[in-house]
Amino acid sequence: MVLRQLNKNCCDILSLTRHFRELNSYPDQSNKLNECFFTKLLSDLKKEVPIQNTFYLCTRIKKSNNPKYTIMKVTVVGAGNVGATCAQIVAEKNIVSEVVLLDIKEGLSEGKSLDLWQTAPINFYDTRVVGATNDYSKSADSDVVVITSGVPRKPGMSRDDLISINAGIVKSVTENVIKYSPNAIIIIVSNPLDVMTYVAHAVSKTSKNKVLGMAGILDTARYRAFLAEALDISPRDIQALLMGGHGDTMVPLPRYTTVAGIPVTELLDKETLDKIIDRTKKGGGELVNLMGTSAWYAPGSAAAQMVEAIVMDQKRVFPCCVKLEGEYGLNDIFVGVPVKLGKNGVEKIIEVKLTDEEQALLVESAKSVKEIMNVVNAMNIL
Ligand code: NAD
Repeated sequence: MVLRQLNKNCCDILSLTRHFRELNSYPDQSNKLNECFFTKLLSDLKKEVPIQNTFYLCTRIKKSNNPKYTIMKVTVVGAGNVGATCAQIVAEKNIVSEVVLLDIKEGLSEGKSLDLWQTAPINFYDTRVVGATNDYSKSADSDVVVITSGVPRKPGMSRDDLISINAGIVKSVTENVIKYSPNAIIIIVSNPLDVMTYVAHAVSKTSKNKVLGMAGILDTARYRAFLAEALDISPRDIQALLMGGHGDTMVPLPRYTTVAGIPVTELLDKETLDKIIDRTKKGGGELVNLMGTSAWYAPGSAAAQMVEAIVMDQKRVFPCCVKLEGEYGLNDIFVGVPVKLGKNGVEKIIEVKLTDEEQALLVESAKSVKEIMNVVNAMNIL
């Protein structure tokens, strides 16, 4: 009864079921405690207060006029380093009911999913994690699909060297994804990122707000981490913007970088800032040289953050790779720009004022993406 009452006010039924399940799994909790909890919940809802951390779980119950409550499903294709990390973080965030992990390698996704499901009682989440070897029917009706399938870089390789293998993989994966989840929002992670996003968009034939690539969150995270180290402050207090393609031509924007609102240019001299920008541009390569393969913790976390922004309809602003049609004076190209992410995917492309020098760097970056797009076009696979 209480649940039905709450249902009317909440769009996030998942949070409620979670709370219920949580309470039920604690036999030592008295009915009184249950009663107190739901009384507080109801009173907060009546006051239109967004509820956070009300009880055991840090889940958000958001008020909405939308009477339709959905239980979200996310599929991650590629159960390798990045895909498995992304699946783990999405599961731990406890924001969707099911995560499907899919890979071409027999047993890999089933094994990792089972391992992740067995982590649930320890790390306190109830997202169901399911594995499937090449069986896309298991991914049917996903709300969001993250594509990480493909080969990663080895030392000495650029992201663009992966093009011939990964274009074929992303093409076939996208065809399967869209067959079973025609309405899904697709997040691309496979490299070369901008061009793989182009491939997925072309193959899916879905609207441009539903296909986007993850690179900007990762690149700004690297930039912010290096800045935090240099300034000896928390990376959380650094806000930064970075645009362009995911490669050495990316365009970090110190003018739009702040530390708790203070322009970073007031805190660091130009030489130090230039060194950090240079290290950010080569940040992926630094890790490839150290580990013999590309990074996964930060990339998996970045993709999971995008999933969260979409499934929770957070309207967060992140740099993401999207199709530009005139914005920033660029046309028919996929590059990183700041966007608003919500339940409809890319809900807005935000155009900020660039100096002539910044604009020239962005155009240069877009040009190098275009060259690789032309390589794919010449492959005649789209
Ligand atoms: P990985 O080798 O650990 O995992 C890739 C997985 O994809 C493997 O398990 C493989 O079996 C699977 N796979 C290959 N072909 C497939 C297919 N047709 N269908 C389903 N699964 C398939 O590699 P990783 O480190 O996880 O990296 C994955 C991709 O992400 C690479 O292309 C890498 O360059 C890219 N990456 C991008 C970013 C970014 O910022 N966008 C960051 C890191 C890595």
